[in-house]
Amino acid sequence: MTGASSGLGLYTTKSLIDRGDYHVVMAVRNVAKAEKAAKELGFPTGSYSVMELELGDLKSVRNFVKKFRGTTKRAKTFQALICNAAVYFPNAVEPTYTVDGFEESVGVTHLGHFLLANLLLQDLVKADDMGIDKRLCVVGSVTANTNTLAGQVPPRANLGDMSGLLAGLDGDRNENAMIDGDRFIGPKAYKDAKLCNIMTIKEMSDRWHEETGVTFSSMYPGCIADTPLFRNHTPTFRFLFPLIQKYITKGYVTMSEAGGRLASVVCDPQYTTSGAYWAWKGGGDQLWDNYWDNSNRESAFDNKPSKEGGDMLKAKKMFDISAEVVGLKPSEMGPKGGNGVKMSLPKMPAFGRN
Ligand code: NAP
Repeated sequence: MTGASSGLGLYTTKSLIDRGDYHVVMAVRNVAKAEKAAKELGFPTGSYSVMELELGDLKSVRNFVKKFRGTTKRAKTFQALICNAAVYFPNAVEPTYTVDGFEESVGVTHLGHFLLANLLLQDLVKADDMGIDKRLCVVGSVTANTNTLAGQVPPRANLGDMSGLLAGLDGDRNENAMIDGDRFIGPKAYKDAKLCNIMTIKEMSDRWHEETGVTFSSMYPGCIADTPLFRNHTPTFRFLFPLIQKYITKGYVTMSEAGGRLASVVCDPQYTTSGAYWAWKGGGDQLWDNYWDNSNRESAFDNKPSKEGGDMLKAKKMFDISAEVVGLKPSEMGPKGGNGVKMSLPKMPAFGRN
């Protein structure tokens, strides 16, 4: 579980531990913070371990994978990977960068997870068969889906011609720090990263579900309006946003409820449709469909992606460019390596600022 030190990641960890059958590896950038949170929530010794993972540093991602492979017991019983961490810079007008020089929102939320998920797919396939299908889930967002009300709020997600990603996502505020190569806009970078998360899952499922039996999915947990995700917003926004989500849009969910939803997606039999993008009924998020009926909060449905999110030619191109950008070798791609990479991209520059 990435980003297990707070918010959705922490409460999903709790929900998995509460089920009694799971050991959760909390993959976090701040080990001390995660240890403290685990103690505060009373996680029993032996039900979790904490390992360092900085998604804004590709070397750290590779080190994490190496160390995880060394923890023989965890690697042998590995049943699910949850890519949950994210950063959001809603008011940023200047890009910030990861260690490798990528614009940070996409660098952390999409590229770091992209490398992690691709590297760990081979380990997921190799792990013992514990009698349930193995799962790989990436957390998405309604804001990336332009066919929803929240997704219609400008600036909208749009990967454009992906020239910024192709150029290495290391530009300045004027060009090439955004996937579409255009001017940098903080909140759009987050939405674009989430769109890539959803499209990555659809592409991985298309390439490898049949061959591996792994269930690939993404999900939108609901609006958990009071997590630290909104730490870079103004205090006024942070005060009003939860109230608006609770009483006006009715999209609000607690960390605990959202954690239960994500845990369910990686454990329960109703979530075995590979390539699905799960969202929940109840609450007003889904284009007001359930605005007056908040009773059915348990059932999820496979959310229709936006036109761009469902464009599988674009998903394939985004996937191939991302693989080049993070330096994924053909031998690291697919369950057996050398699988599914058919590069037809123009010759690329060395990526990153360093
Ligand atoms: P959060 O509490 O801020 O959790 C984000 C997690 O990501 C934290 O554990 C954070 O670590 C970690 N993280 C950030 N940068 C990282 C990096 N460079 N390397 C490794 N880990 C990093 O926010 P949240 O609301 O729970 O968000 C969790 C997921 O839910 C995200 O994918 C978000 O997009 C999604 N989501 C949230 C909402 C919502 O309403 N909150 C709605 C839809 C989707 P630290 O603890 O060290 O900061």
